[in-house]
Amino acid sequence: MSQTLQAVRGMNDILPDEAEIWEHFEDIVRDWLRSYGYRPIRMPIVEPTPLFKRAIGEVTDIVEKEMYSFEDALNGEHLTLRPEGTASCVRAAIQHNLVQGNGPQRLYYHGPMFRHERPQKGRYRQFHQIGIEALGFAGPDVDAEHIIMCARLWDDLGLEEHVRLEINSLGSADERAQHRAALIAYLEQHQARLDEDGKRRLYTNPLRILDTKNPDLQDVVEAAPRLADYLGEESRAHFEAVQVLLKDAGIAYRINHRLVRGLDYYNRTVFEWVTDKLGAQGTVCAGGRYDGLVAQLGGKPQPAAGFAMGVERLLALWRECGGETDRVVPDVYVVHLGDSAQRLAFRAAEALRGHGFAVVTHCGGGSFKSQMKKADGSGAAIALVIGEDEAAQGEIGVKPLRGPGAQQRVALEALPEAVAQVLFSDENEEGASNGGV
Ligand code: ATP
Ligand code: MG
Repeated sequence: MSQTLQAVRGMNDILPDEAEIWEHFEDIVRDWLRSYGYRPIRMPIVEPTPLFKRAIGEVTDIVEKEMYSFEDALNGEHLTLRPEGTASCVRAAIQHNLVQGNGPQRLYYHGPMFRHERPQKGRYRQFHQIGIEALGFAGPDVDAEHIIMCARLWDDLGLEEHVRLEINSLGSADERAQHRAALIAYLEQHQARLDEDGKRRLYTNPLRILDTKNPDLQDVVEAAPRLADYLGEESRAHFEAVQVLLKDAGIAYRINHRLVRGLDYYNRTVFEWVTDKLGAQGTVCAGGRYDGLVAQLGGKPQPAAGFAMGVERLLALWRECGGETDRVVPDVYVVHLGDSAQRLAFRAAEALRGHGFAVVTHCGGGSFKSQMKKADGSGAAIALVIGEDEAAQGEIGVKPLRGPGAQQRVALEALPEAVAQVLFSDENEEGASNGGV
């Protein structure tokens, strides 16, 4: 016997019970994005490897050790499964002249991302992000908009009590360079205590050392020179203006001087939404401003800002907080016995679907009794019952499965009306989908 095949480690199947929750979540998210004027964009899942090296930075966890890269067997091109969406989105905007041709763009995307990490709760090798990018916006207004819109989504999902906001400013490239010099000087004094990553990054990406999760280094990084002390007038004013809008919106936040984000391309405002309910993988959403990236990828310089949320982590949090959704059930389950009954069953089901009802037609035969069991188990509010007798008369039995109401027999033409009456009667309100006549 051959061995059964399994999914790749860290890459999950999302089975129907779970996938229905995903779809419900995605509906909420889509409405939320539209309500802020963001428009969809879809990019390929595979991109040229140099895109990520240039956008994310050579000395980052992602590029150093997390990318799924391979050579195209046909032409030798170096390709990578996207580890995040911003690089692709900016590449697409440059390639298609989106901002130049049409002015600033508010964009969103969602889909799978790939990182070769050690799989654990909330950390997978294929995971999903919802990302938004605002391209061509320079001001603190759009930074604040992003944070405020997140807060609204937490409200929509009932998560507002369970997430907190941390913000910081990374200043401009110049300001970071000055801080970097001071930081290197400081870290050199503590070189002996740095871990392997820290030693390696001391001269290549010292800012990232501040972001370390190593508990032994916390006191060293806590006392390190703060970027905030190197911010110039403009950066300070920008950060202030973001905070004014947050305060107006009633959004509580904490300034975290060590919040530097894992990716190289950020400047000025950065933020993370964190929960305590998911253990170590507590960051559910992260983002900020990245004014240099468009130019770095070869486009005409354009300011930009964005964020991405981890769907698996958000859904885990939603579940923790009681955000389960009702199972999606059909309105009607069609039970039938005999050849002519089957033909009438198919016509009846199509007639109802034509009126917007969700209908499952029994397939696979079996006795009335076993079919009625299936009808019950489906969660449908109504069973249509069609036997030889009904078929001979061209009529259909309509049997309410949940509310009171007695079984009745109606002609095909009268069926949608009869089904609507059962579904939308007060007792049955809950069973009704969005179908209607
Ligand atoms: P972390 O510090 O947890 O590794 P990150 O800084 O690498 O996160 P980003 O690149 O900012 O993460 O991605 C944005 C969001 O995507 C994260 O806040 C998180 O919610 C989610 N995310 C990132 N990596 C993973 C993963 N491997 N599995 C599940 N979700 C992830
Ligand atoms: Mg990471």
